Amino acid sequence: MHYHTIIVGAGPAGLFAAQALGQHRKSVLVLERNHRAGRKLLISGAGQCNFTHAGPIEEFLDCYHDQAKFVKKALLSFTNKDTMHFFENMGVPYHVFPNNKVFPKSMKSEDVLGALLKACQMGNVQIEYGQTVLQISIYDGVYTIETEEGKRYFSDHVVIATGGKSYAQLGSDGKGYELAASLDHTIIEPRPALTDVRFKNNIYKVISGVSVQDVALSVWREGKKIHENRGDLLFTHKGISGPVIINSSRWMKPGDTLMVNYLHPRTYEEVKREFSEALAHRGKEEVITFLKPLQLPKTLIQLLCEQIGLDEHTPCAQVNKKTREELVNALTRYTFTVDQLGGYHIAMVTAGGVHLKEVNPTTMESRKHKGLYFIGEVLDVDGITGGYNIQAAFSMGYLCAKHLTK
Ligand SMILES: Cc1cc2nc3c(=O)[nH]c(=O)nc-3n(C[C@H](O)[C@H](O)[C@H](O)COP(=O)(O)OP(=O)(O)OC[C@H]3O[C@@H](n4cnc5c(N)ncnc54)[C@H](O)[C@@H]3O)c2cc1C
Repeated sequence: MHYHTIIVGAGPAGLFAAQALGQHRKSVLVLERNHRAGRKLLISGAGQCNFTHAGPIEEFLDCYHDQAKFVKKALLSFTNKDTMHFFENMGVPYHVFPNNKVFPKSMKSEDVLGALLKACQMGNVQIEYGQTVLQISIYDGVYTIETEEGKRYFSDHVVIATGGKSYAQLGSDGKGYELAASLDHTIIEPRPALTDVRFKNNIYKVISGVSVQDVALSVWREGKKIHENRGDLLFTHKGISGPVIINSSRWMKPGDTLMVNYLHPRTYEEVKREFSEALAHRGKEEVITFLKPLQLPKTLIQLLCEQIGLDEHTPCAQVNKKTREELVNALTRYTFTVDQLGGYHIAMVTAGGVHLKEVNPTTMESRKHKGLYFIGEVLDVDGITGGYNIQAAFSMGYLCAKHLTK
């Protein structure tokens, strides 16, 4: 059989495009290597699936790093509100948490996947499982798709929705990049993103589980600041994590310096001035008592004091200028050196992928081959945590289908 469109990959991007095409009575086939759809979607949000974010759509644009311009058209063509309506109409009510993360009311990712599959069924979308696409070729405007399992399919259009390469055991193992490269596309080097930072000798193990709210983080390479962010930081038994680290991890490489201001928004200079005046007036008070109003975890303060060789029970009057400056430094300019980033096996998304310059953001069509489309994480698009990645997958799937049904 010859299809109007073949979609490679039954993740959120592929399924969303498929159901939208199905609604327009196009003959659509989805080829999926696994024996079931959406395995990554099922584990997303710890199995609860944070499928979008309820904040204003304009604010979404701050959540895709340098690629916001590319995803803007897709996000505006199918917004977070559209996503919420879609699932509600499909019988999956949602719940918006105070942080604006949106989950199915049941808190079950199966319900989100179930709605996508039901919508595909309603549009007569065919899904063939257990087919790993190995090769895509074009001749005379017709696409031929060959699978590892020895099957061959034909279509007028092909949509590559194969995802990134994190959690490869769930199906997205980077094969999509090879397919794209074989079709003349440039691949921006993939790297793990939305992951943690690890230290070979993790001296923070003793305070693992401790978290600090709203720190300011900057990432430095060869003396240059390359990124800054704010958010909560968590010490773990392997290193450091928490939203501020996870959302900034795409900017980091081993060897980079991370500088943390635990007292943000107060600066080094402000705290230095404050401390020099206050310490002088609190002669007999112990350093640990003096630092209490900072509302930092006590164990962190103890660790920082230990690192600069200051006994936390020292009376303030006995803290000399050098130690005082070291203390201010530790609190406002604390540095870590990145040993390692959590690898693809724990990274939630992959940064890098199909070069955005080679894909039209108003249609998702390849600029190299007519009839070829890329959607979802296979592209060089990655968002922060909070439902932005799945929303981007839906929006790109929708936009691509809209163009294909014109
Ligand atoms: C632990 C974890 C938690 C997450 N939580 C969230 C969250 O709460 N909210 C959020 O927004 N994002 C979350 N994400 C990210 C989100 O799941 C992904 O960004 C999203 O699934 C990407 O969708 P996709 O359709 O582009 O790719 P995928 O979901 O990766 O789907 C790609 C599909 O293509 C198939 N495939 C690949 N290669 C081939 C081939 N050659 N032939 C046939 N089939 C192929 C794969 O088997 C897979 O089914 C999470 C990710 C992880 C790992």
